[in-house]
Amino acid sequence: MADVIQSSLLSVFAKRDRRPIYEWAAENLTELPPVLTLRSFSVSESKHFCGPLDALATEEVRQVVIRKPVRSGGTLIADVWHLWCRANDPGPAMSIFQSDKVAADHAEHRLLWMMKRCRAIRPLLSEDRFASKKNEITFADGLPLYVIGPGLNNLQTRGIRYLSISEAWISAVGAMVEQAEARLGDFKRIQLSKLLIDSQGGVESDAVDARFMAGNAAEWNVECQSCGHYMPARWSGQRPDGSRWAMRWDKKKDKRGFWDVAGCLGSVRFECRECGHPHFDNPQMRAKWNKTGRFIDTNPSAPLSLRSYTWTGLIIDPWINLLETFLTAMNSYKLGVIDPLIQFFQKYMGEPKSESSVHEALSTVPVARYEVQSSWPDERARYLCVDVQETEFWFVARAWGLHGESRRLDCGRCYNWAEIELAQKNLLIEDRHVFVDSGFRTKEVYRACCRHGAWARVGGMYVWCGWHPVRGDPQRAFAHKWNRETIWRSYSEPTNVDAESGQSNDGGVRHCQLIRFSDPTMQDRMEQLLKKGFMKSPEQNGEMDETYKRHLANEFKRAKKNKNTGRSEWQYVARGPNHMRDCEKLSVLGATLSELLPDQIDTDSVG
Ligand SMILES: [Zn+2]
Repeated sequence: MADVIQSSLLSVFAKRDRRPIYEWAAENLTELPPVLTLRSFSVSESKHFCGPLDALATEEVRQVVIRKPVRSGGTLIADVWHLWCRANDPGPAMSIFQSDKVAADHAEHRLLWMMKRCRAIRPLLSEDRFASKKNEITFADGLPLYVIGPGLNNLQTRGIRYLSISEAWISAVGAMVEQAEARLGDFKRIQLSKLLIDSQGGVESDAVDARFMAGNAAEWNVECQSCGHYMPARWSGQRPDGSRWAMRWDKKKDKRGFWDVAGCLGSVRFECRECGHPHFDNPQMRAKWNKTGRFIDTNPSAPLSLRSYTWTGLIIDPWINLLETFLTAMNSYKLGVIDPLIQFFQKYMGEPKSESSVHEALSTVPVARYEVQSSWPDERARYLCVDVQETEFWFVARAWGLHGESRRLDCGRCYNWAEIELAQKNLLIEDRHVFVDSGFRTKEVYRACCRHGAWARVGGMYVWCGWHPVRGDPQRAFAHKWNRETIWRSYSEPTNVDAESGQSNDGGVRHCQLIRFSDPTMQDRMEQLLKKGFMKSPEQNGEMDETYKRHLANEFKRAKKNKNTGRSEWQYVARGPNHMRDCEKLSVLGATLSELLPDQIDTDSVG
């Protein structure tokens, strides 16, 4: 180890080319492998290469993460950097690919091919030693370059100074990033190591995403050709008033609501966030965007040692190709097939995506404008709905009006019953309009409900008027006996439940009434209301508002195969926390019980 560091340290003082890497490369890499579309290395049409290459040449930088569309030059940047290091500031190096085969191909047809044609490196190549060790190029001065797959056995090597990892979103590659990084240890300690990660989009919060976010997270911005405004070259954007910017097209759909893909392509354009000016895809416009484009940090307080860059397919691929891929994916999505849409964002936009974030992006709940404190003439009832978890409570308070409209008054998380009581008091909500899910900590929920309310005689029957424990049920409807007839409803008749935990006899109420409800029916009903924009939320409510949106998007319908029948059917699937969605479901139940929503039951599904 010591000798490797020694020779590497010496190289620091060797004559080093101080020009930017891309200038050195333009002069030294006059030939590129035939597999690439570029004939010689140049950033004149890919100015976004300069940001990461400059970062790689900056002494203080230890890590550079590039998140970009597939086939958009990520590995070329890594190759050029390895060549530049070898020629100007050499050290033991390693380049990791998604498989041993890809690594071997890459070494032979790309990296070695370029090194053999690079004037500064050619004299250092000793091909006989490369041939004897499959994954290792050993240069004439003894320094190694490993080009390997993601197997951990491949990491049984000495210290590495320059490490590049390609397509780290692949789980096998992502899983070894940390072990690979450990090989940088000694060089990292003396501040000479460099780690370069390039990848398409994976899923939110995966290893690449976390490293990307820890850096300056620089996003490629383009200039409006009309007003000069800079904005990210993204697929879609929404202005504060709810209107859309970025990629737009004339909406053409067939009778069944599917996109008329061919009919939309001709109108594709990019509209400015500021002035709405449409940009059309042509070589002149692309040249201007390339000339004036620049990276803008979205995490400017990141340490200089951690740099990260991203760009999208908008500056690489023809827009009609992108739109065709997108609309085709949207048509699949309509049929319940979500993967093509996830892949569109991961592969063409370089964005991390998962089922829940796709769903979140597509749910266009209109932004409502109202003051929570203002009176709403249409209001008929307000509900406080509580989801009880092992260590916490989630709640949503919502006012319901006529015609199925409702307004969210508050939502949040708390940790004890007193806070729920306080929210109830502040929002002037009656005891009988508080619903508490009793799926968890059941006895405790019953006891809390018994503390808030009383039994009342209504029409010759005793009815619980107080906090209601409620519980979802997979069945679609419940039978109610009425005048010797059976009526089907989305909720059950109330049943008495015992709050007593054993011996307590403090004179308090020991029973209350539980209402069960059909989970799928209530979900469908809520989904309809959400789609129509009837369940309104106030504009901008800070971090909790974001959490609320996430919780609502974290459960959605998708086609699933029924193991018993072999047939495909729609099912609700949760991906991530959905507690406030559960609260909203109870609110829909409340509005149904108050007959503010019709209790339509699809009688075909009642068996
Ligand atoms: Zn503009």
